[in-house]
Amino acid sequence: MANNIKLSPKHGVNPTIPVCAWCGEPKNEIALFGKIDREDSEAPKNCILDYVPCEHCAEQWSMGVAILEATTQRPEPYRPPMQQDKGVDIYPTMRMVVIRPESASQIFGQEMSAGQRILLEDTAFEQIFGEALRQQGEQ
Ligand SMILES: [Zn+2]
Repeated sequence: MANNIKLSPKHGVNPTIPVCAWCGEPKNEIALFGKIDREDSEAPKNCILDYVPCEHCAEQWSMGVAILEATTQRPEPYRPPMQQDKGVDIYPTMRMVVIRPESASQIFGQEMSAGQRILLEDTAFEQIFGEALRQQGEQ
């Protein structure tokens, strides 16, 4: 893609700084969008381009089981889906928890180990972790 970037007449290479999809921190990268669409829109300042966790998040995840909230509603333009399930696009909401493997095994009824990830549909995520996350936020 980078080799045949189509320059934007208005915004040139039209750069954006990719951010970590999980904590929102900017990554040490620049992405060049060039001409994005018919209207020649300016690229957003920051953009989630992939779901590779930054170093900080990867380290956190490795300590337990990462439960990632997912939704089928595209949260913003240009956001790529994380995966497709039977033709339906799945997007993470950026809410997540990292819990001990023993707790995860209990909740999901199967043996889980550190470093595993689970995409959990938003309604279920809210039911299981919503309250705990809000309490954490208040402290
Ligand atoms: Zn991160």
